[in-house]
Amino acid sequence: MAYTAEGGAIRDDQFFWDGLKEHRLLFQQCSDCGTVRHPIEPMCGNCGSLEWGTMESSGHGTVYTWILSHHPNNADDVPPRLVALVNLDEGIRLVSNVAGVEHDAMANDIEVTVDYYDRGDGVFLHRFLPVDSAAGGN
Ligand code: ZN
Repeated sequence: MAYTAEGGAIRDDQFFWDGLKEHRLLFQQCSDCGTVRHPIEPMCGNCGSLEWGTMESSGHGTVYTWILSHHPNNADDVPPRLVALVNLDEGIRLVSNVAGVEHDAMANDIEVTVDYYDRGDGVFLHRFLPVDSAAGGN
């Protein structure tokens, strides 16, 4: 099942951005062998199928590795910020920002969960929060 849009060009990654707006983290999943993949690709790397659908991630994972970035993305960014490679439970590795963690407390293997925010122009982005913080802390 390919994702289609009304009118205009069909963007392979439109489902991903629409999902973020609905606070859902969606990935491509091969319709033939079930392999989940990211970034978006036209063909399954496992079986070569061109047929795909989407699956919703739990948004739960652990930090695989991270950096403290001092490079501002936007003029109003307040650097530095934590950028991590997150191992999601579904086997996807996703680059994202991490919020809610003191820089000194950041570490590999901390448990994180996805969070969504409007960057200010109606485009929603993902970021990750430590599970302790997301659950209200303790
Ligand atoms: Zn496949």
